Amino acid sequence: MIGERVDEGIGRIPGFVNAYVFEDPSGIYVVDTTISRSARPVRKAFDKASTPLSKIGTILLTHQHVDHVRGAARLKEESRAVVACHSADADVVEGKTPPRMSVLLRLFFRPPPVAVSRRLSDGDQVGPFRVVHLPGHTAGAVAFYHPERRILFSGDTVVERKGQLTLPAANFAADLPQAVQSLQLLKKLPVELLLPGHGVPVRKGFTEQLDALIARAPSEFLGARR
Ligand SMILES: [Zn+2]
Ligand SMILES: [Zn+2]
Repeated sequence: MIGERVDEGIGRIPGFVNAYVFEDPSGIYVVDTTISRSARPVRKAFDKASTPLSKIGTILLTHQHVDHVRGAARLKEESRAVVACHSADADVVEGKTPPRMSVLLRLFFRPPPVAVSRRLSDGDQVGPFRVVHLPGHTAGAVAFYHPERRILFSGDTVVERKGQLTLPAANFAADLPQAVQSLQLLKKLPVELLLPGHGVPVRKGFTEQLDALIARAPSEFLGARR
């Protein structure tokens, strides 16, 4: 097992942001790569499991924010993995468009560019996962959904905090009303295990918690803007 065991073949590499490792017969997938330029938490987890990074077949990026993609270039370098992210976020990941962050932050945290081998669209299949486009947090924010096992890697489209589902801080969203709207799209998916970009995995009551978030999100996140 690479990382902390969450479920069969799924390890979590926890931190301010989670990275996940998904192992199945089609290969090893790493979902998001941490804010560490050298992807240190990921490297440590692979070392501990005595698995070389070269075994990584696919790096799945849920969106272009620095805390999720900064380790991608290094991991790709060491593994030659396929890097996949949504087409709308790919130019930022490849360094062709600057990320939306302050100049100072960009100076210290700008992620090293990494070539995107697969530009994804909604409904695409990557190994066992279906790509679900959930724009708002960023234009190309996606979740990766495993329909057979009902597992959802949600990135920042929905996160866990203090036992509740929520959205990340409002000022990180590119289009907050759209991010709230995109929550409706998640309602169509039966989810038994949610693996969010921030917070802990949610095993029970996803639908109920999502309904509660949808009900309170307009006032909690959009209210002050009216
Ligand atoms: Zn984000
Ligand atoms: Zn994040």
